[in-house]
Amino acid sequence: MTTLSVQTLAGRRCRVLLWTVGILLLFQACTKRVCPVTEDAAPPAAPRPSSCPAPRPGSVAVAEKPLTRSSDCRTVTHEVAPLETLWRLSRMYDIPVESICSANGIKPSDPLHVGQKLVIPNTRSFRHVIALYPNRRWTHIVVHHTATDIGKALLIDRTHHDRGFWHGLGYHFLIDNGTLGKGDGQIEVAPRWIKQQTGAHCKAGNMNEKAIGIALVGNFNEDLPTPRQLDSLAYLLDLLTRYYRIPSNRIVGHREVPGANTDCPGSRFPWHSVRQVLTAR
Ligand SMILES: [Zn+2]
Repeated sequence: MTTLSVQTLAGRRCRVLLWTVGILLLFQACTKRVCPVTEDAAPPAAPRPSSCPAPRPGSVAVAEKPLTRSSDCRTVTHEVAPLETLWRLSRMYDIPVESICSANGIKPSDPLHVGQKLVIPNTRSFRHVIALYPNRRWTHIVVHHTATDIGKALLIDRTHHDRGFWHGLGYHFLIDNGTLGKGDGQIEVAPRWIKQQTGAHCKAGNMNEKAIGIALVGNFNEDLPTPRQLDSLAYLLDLLTRYYRIPSNRIVGHREVPGANTDCPGSRFPWHSVRQVLTAR
C-alpha cells in the first residue's frame, strides 16, 4: 500500500468517524428535547422548528416539556414574574410573541414589569422552559421547602428582598403547588438561575457557591408535596444532573448538609418517591 493510499484510507476513516459522532450528537440532543437557543436577553424572532440541531459546546440550551395540554384553546391572564420575558412567555404557552403583543397592545421591544397582567390568547398548553447554561460551578443540588402553604416566585422574591437578600429570591427554581394563580407543579425559573448567580439558600457547606437551589412550595413537616410537584422535581433533577453531570449522592435536602441547623425540606418529605421516579427514568 502506498503512502498516498494509506493517507486516503485514514482520511476516509476520520470523515466516517466525524459523521458518526455528529449524527449521534444530533440524535441525543433531539431525543432529549434540548435545543440550542439564545436565552431571554435576545429572543429568537420566529418559533424554532420541531427538529433541532445538537447544542454547540459552550452554547446555552433550552429544555421544554408540557405540564398541561388541552384540545381546546383557552385565553388566560398571566402575571409577570421576575425576569420573565415575552420570549419565555411565548415558549411557556406555545404561542407566537406577536399574538401576545397584539392581545395586549404592546410591542416586542416593550419591557415587561414584575406583576404586570398580560392576556395570553388561544393557548392549548403550558410548558416548563428550562435554560441550561455551560457552567462548571454547579456540583450539588439542595432541595428545600418554603415552609408556607402558599407561594409563588414573585411573592417570595419580595419576601427575600425584605430579608436583605440583594438579589431577591434566594433559590434558582421554585416548584409551585397550584396556589396564588400558579399551576400545580409549575417550575418557575428564578433570576439567579437566568443570571447564573450564587444562591442564598444554604450557607452551610459553602452550598450557596456550588449548589443549585430548588424549593417546593409547601410545608412538608405538615403536608406532602402534590404528585405534580414531585413529578416536576424528578424531571428537573433528571435534567440538571444529566447536563451538569451531578451524581445522585450530591442531591441533598437542606437539613442533610453538615452544619445546617434546619428541618427543611420537612420531616415528611418523600425522598423515597423522588428517587423511585428518578430511577425509573
Ligand atoms: Zn431550606
